[in-house]
Amino acid sequence: MKKLLDVIIQNNRHYTEEGSVASYIPELEKADKNALGICVVTLDGEEYFAGDYETKFTIQSISKVISLMLALLDNGREYVFSKVGMEPTAETFNSISNLETRNPHKPLNPMINSGAIATVSMISGQDSNEMFGRILKFARKITGNPSLNLNEDVYLSEKATGHRNRSLAYFMKSTKVIEQDVEEVLDVYFKQCSIEATCRDIARIGAMLANDGILPWTGERVIPRNVARIVKTIMVTCGMYDASGEFAVNVGIPAKSGVGGGILTAVPKRMGIGVVGPSLDKKGNSIGGVKVLEELSRELDLSIF
Ligand code: GLU
Repeated sequence: MKKLLDVIIQNNRHYTEEGSVASYIPELEKADKNALGICVVTLDGEEYFAGDYETKFTIQSISKVISLMLALLDNGREYVFSKVGMEPTAETFNSISNLETRNPHKPLNPMINSGAIATVSMISGQDSNEMFGRILKFARKITGNPSLNLNEDVYLSEKATGHRNRSLAYFMKSTKVIEQDVEEVLDVYFKQCSIEATCRDIARIGAMLANDGILPWTGERVIPRNVARIVKTIMVTCGMYDASGEFAVNVGIPAKSGVGGGILTAVPKRMGIGVVGPSLDKKGNSIGGVKVLEELSRELDLSIF
């Protein structure tokens, strides 16, 4: 496996030249454009690494998977999906148009910004500190990494410039999708996006999901099987922004990407894969990361379809 991963990283590194790092959050522009790394965690707990696997990145939209799990644990499926839909979208991740035109006015799914902000608002806690504290604690558990933490600079950069997300949240407050204090909810959202990780951390979350909610490295169940199933299904249909269909055809694995350059994937019953490559394509997915996953999926016959 290690050899295969080394070769695949080498074969696809040149794609990083073709994309660009996210710049709409100023702090993200500092990322290393040419980095490309991978970690595979199998269900018997083996871990394999290649390329720039030590590169740290903020998880950004990958956090939407974590908050969806927690919102489902806190509220159950019915309540969560009474506020947020389950349908994919051809609009961009930060689109506002659907919020106004659709009736009822609920966001299309939990993997786009509006849906994720609404999902975060359902997480239990007195205030943003308690809500984010619970997210971080849960993230540490499912990565097996007690030192997982916030990147303060990215958080502050995002909080200062996240006007689009602010407008989505206030719109949803006006339509009563969000019932809590909007600024508190946004604070939690900005913080969860700014959790800093490596591809090993996200590969481990993928391995837990691939293992139907059980941590492969301890045997502990952390989420019920049906929560793992719901999350993986939403990842397949909505996880790669408006390129989710193409990714399903070319790779065929539940996945969630973030504009920090990470992609978390869960290959049911087989493995979790984390890739990092901050150079993004036009839709906001890691350009090298997607190519690496395409080749790995072909080589190991990973598509679930
Ligand atoms: N924090 C980013 C935003 O809300 C996340 C976007 C992403 O990774 O897609 O704009």
